[in-house]
Amino acid sequence: MPFAVTHILFPIIVLDELKKHWSALKRRLTMHTLLVAGVAGLLPDADILVELVFAAGGATLDIHRLYTHTFVIPLVIAGVALAFKGRRRWLLLAAAFGWATHVTLDLLVGGEVSHFFPFAGPAEIGLLVNASMPLEMRTAILAGLDAAVFLVWLWHEEKYKKLKDFF
Ligand SMILES: [Zn+2]
Repeated sequence: MPFAVTHILFPIIVLDELKKHWSALKRRLTMHTLLVAGVAGLLPDADILVELVFAAGGATLDIHRLYTHTFVIPLVIAGVALAFKGRRRWLLLAAAFGWATHVTLDLLVGGEVSHFFPFAGPAEIGLLVNASMPLEMRTAILAGLDAAVFLVWLWHEEKYKKLKDFF
């Protein structure tokens, strides 16, 4: 259950690193492709917005980490990508990658995730946080993870892309 910054930047950083070390990807992983991966890295948590809409209407809906937190969705997106060629294929593959990193991070960091819904029940690895921890502690750890990922990204951008132009 990492926060938004981690979910967005993690796939971007990984794909950017792959692009640097794998010359075949250099031309295919454009800035737009990386942006799609970052947005797709956050998209599974859109189920929180659905819960909030229902809560605003006075109803309770408990779907977080159920329908959207499954590897089945990125597998389907990757399968659809095979029907396309060129730029569209790579955008879809980046979306599948971003979505898969979200499910992986949620599964590894903590909290139950229905990672193979509808074929299997929820699972939890919880390397960083777990439900037995006080909420404040979980929040502090996840906020720290967000800050660390953001700082790594800033360092990465400064080192390889001369981010100093923005400061
Ligand atoms: Zn999530």
